[in-house]
Amino acid sequence: MACSAALDDRKLIDGHGRAIRYLRISVTDRCDLRCRYCMAEEMTFLPRSELLSLEEIALIAERFITRGVRKIRLTGGEPLVRRDMIELARRLGRQVGTGLDEITLTTNGTRLADHAEALAEAGVRRINVSLDSRDPETFRYITRHGQIDRVLAGIAAAKAAGLAVKINMVALKGLNEDEIAPMLEWAVAEGHDLTLIETMPLGAIEEDRADRFLPLPEVLARLRSAFDLIGDAHVSGGPARYLRVAGTATRLGLISPLTSNFCATCNRVRLSTDGKLHMCLGHDDSVDLRAAIREGGLAAVDLAIDTALGRKPERHDFNIVRGAAPAVARHMSVTGG
Ligand code: SAM
Ligand code: SF4
Repeated sequence: MACSAALDDRKLIDGHGRAIRYLRISVTDRCDLRCRYCMAEEMTFLPRSELLSLEEIALIAERFITRGVRKIRLTGGEPLVRRDMIELARRLGRQVGTGLDEITLTTNGTRLADHAEALAEAGVRRINVSLDSRDPETFRYITRHGQIDRVLAGIAAAKAAGLAVKINMVALKGLNEDEIAPMLEWAVAEGHDLTLIETMPLGAIEEDRADRFLPLPEVLARLRSAFDLIGDAHVSGGPARYLRVAGTATRLGLISPLTSNFCATCNRVRLSTDGKLHMCLGHDDSVDLRAAIREGGLAAVDLAIDTALGRKPERHDFNIVRGAAPAVARHMSVTGG
């Protein structure tokens, strides 16, 4: 068997020559909201016994860092509903500057007011907060019961704690499309970035996603009539294309997997709540790192990662077609958005 020094040298290059530098970890598939495009109203969550422990997540993440991952995002489900989330952020935060460039978080913001300070102390510098509407009624409708005040208080607390905030907004036809320009105006006024996202066909929900699908090129054309948007060279290590609102610090990101494929530059893999390593959001294939770490320790994890790299698909084939089944049965909350 290879010695650990040799394993450390085994950098993460997939079968298509892409270097993997970004790991997303879904720390829980549970959530305190039920966004209509993301989840069904009645969801069956994984039994707690199937989840990776904090120690297992940390050991696997540290292995990825040793092998070249530079950025880790903690997500879910709602990461802040997991009790030991801050402890995990603290542990991984200690790796920032020694291999890891940054640790970030994607949250719905409902519990952010309570945790923003602790996240900043843990070494988190930037977070994404999902906010599909600033109108209380529309927000409640989209999330099925969410209270906008709590999220806005969370965003304010994050800002006060010194965290840079990027707002994530899924563009939804007939639901929030008239709020996109006002959201960008608000983001500029508050000093946040804004990323718009096309709805993706992941997991069964009550609605037909085709009814809500809003192509971002259409949205961008409308925004251009109200804002001076200029190209921005910023590279986030993600699929977003960036523009800057002229004369401001605000970046507008566009994640458009349906209308413009970004797979050629994909640099990421995803660890699910139950320890499956998913090489692509749009495919079912995964490698079981929970079994590997429990049965063979870190050496087995390394071998499983190698297997996964060899199987990373070249691209997803998302398509939003009325009446069609989702591209994959898994919801985004399991693998982490
Ligand atoms: N609960 C946290 C939140 O909402 O920010 C983190 C997890 S959530 C799955 C991460 C991101 O995925 C959110 O910005 C959410 O809007 C987005 N998302 C969820 N389901 C999606 C889907 N089917 N298509 C596109 N984006 C989706
Ligand atoms: Fe929960 Fe985030 Fe999915 Fe909304 S998008 S249901 S907040 S996991």
